[in-house]
Amino acid sequence: MAPGLLPALAWRVGLALLAALFLGLTLGGLAWWLFAATLGLLGYLVYSLWGLERWLRTGKRRSRAESDGVLGAIYADIMQLRQRARRRKKRFHRLLREVRDSTDAMHDGGVILNADMEIAWLNDAASRLLGLDPARDQGQHITNLVRHPDFVAYIEEAEFSEKLKMPGPRRNTHLSVQLIPYGNQQKLLIVQDITREVRLEHMRRDFVANVSHELRSPLTVIAGYLESLGDERSLDEVWRQPVAEMQRQVARMNSIVHDLITLSRLEAAERPAGQEPVDVPDMLDQLHREALTRRERPSELELRLETTARVRGEEQELHSVFSNLLNNALRFTPPEGRIECRWWQDEEGVHFSITDTGIGIPETLIPRITERFFRVDSGRAREVGGTGLGLAIVKHALLRHGGRLEIRSRPGEGSTFICHFPTARTVLPPPEAEAAAPSPG
Ligand code: ADP
Repeated sequence: MAPGLLPALAWRVGLALLAALFLGLTLGGLAWWLFAATLGLLGYLVYSLWGLERWLRTGKRRSRAESDGVLGAIYADIMQLRQRARRRKKRFHRLLREVRDSTDAMHDGGVILNADMEIAWLNDAASRLLGLDPARDQGQHITNLVRHPDFVAYIEEAEFSEKLKMPGPRRNTHLSVQLIPYGNQQKLLIVQDITREVRLEHMRRDFVANVSHELRSPLTVIAGYLESLGDERSLDEVWRQPVAEMQRQVARMNSIVHDLITLSRLEAAERPAGQEPVDVPDMLDQLHREALTRRERPSELELRLETTARVRGEEQELHSVFSNLLNNALRFTPPEGRIECRWWQDEEGVHFSITDTGIGIPETLIPRITERFFRVDSGRAREVGGTGLGLAIVKHALLRHGGRLEIRSRPGEGSTFICHFPTARTVLPPPEAEAAAPSPG
């Protein structure tokens, strides 16, 4: 083991001084001998330092004696540090290889993007799913390579709390992507292959749509016969009530089939709704008038049209939205209750709200009531004649218009359903149409 720097140096200085003292005393000129010894020591130190510097720079040692000399301790410490660094580097490389092997074995793709959205690293699955080349595409902006408009919009909007579903670069493939920000403005792009799920979903949708279409014709025939049977004067009295009940059930099945077809159509639509300006105030006015003619309705039923703004979209779908919400309010509000509809505009867009003082919905169930066939109280909902598909239709139709549904409710107090439409879908009628429009109220 190398001695410490100080003892090695002290030993050599002591020896040189002793030699100078001895020579000075025997030969005379002590001061000169001491000076020569100091100079010699300095020279030796400079030479040793030069050797050390050369070794650090080139890794070459002139002789073993050199590293055993006065700087032996420093040589030994540096060697130890180097060995430790080498071991650490080996461990780091092993770890890196393991991380790389495990991420390459993953089915999900991972792409690390820097602050400028350029690719810093990607695993095998990402290169396969996104059609990227790890060697060629490193340093490229991600949207130069993944160019689907939905993906570009997702990156530009910088709102990464939700996953994005989009078609993959290979035919008939579907991907789900999500960007997760981390560290110093870096981002991890997670890519999942959802082709199987999308295919199954399409199969389910097609199946429901086909079954609904197939049921329509036999139901029409049965409804026709039942109607004739109900009108038959010679019909035995005991059959009158069962026939009336059968007519009610067939009508219910017809509404379910009708709603299933509407929902399948909305779900299957790939593009957003069209851009035709729809005169929503006029539509609401008509729905309001129809509701007023109903025998069973809450005593107070009010409509406040605060804007003449229209919505760009599909007339039939918007009609479904408002009629479903109004029908629900009518069905779930007692005769002594109150319903108020409002159509207004602000800087965020145009909005429709319908507030009732009906039975309300428990807070925990609010997120679920837009699911197909979900009912708070299925017995009661059936009694009041629902299909369980109304709010699912509302939600999908709104989504196709870039809108969203907001629900506030308290059991026993009532509910408010609000449809928000973005400014991009809002349009004011031409001045001459506005002059002819019904006055709000
Ligand atoms: P349904 O045809 O059963 O009304 P919807 O999808 O329209 O189907 O509504 C789902 C469920 O949400 C209803 O069964 C009911 O429990 C609840 N719901 C909807 N609107 C209201 C409302 N205005 N007041 C109270 N509950 C409501």
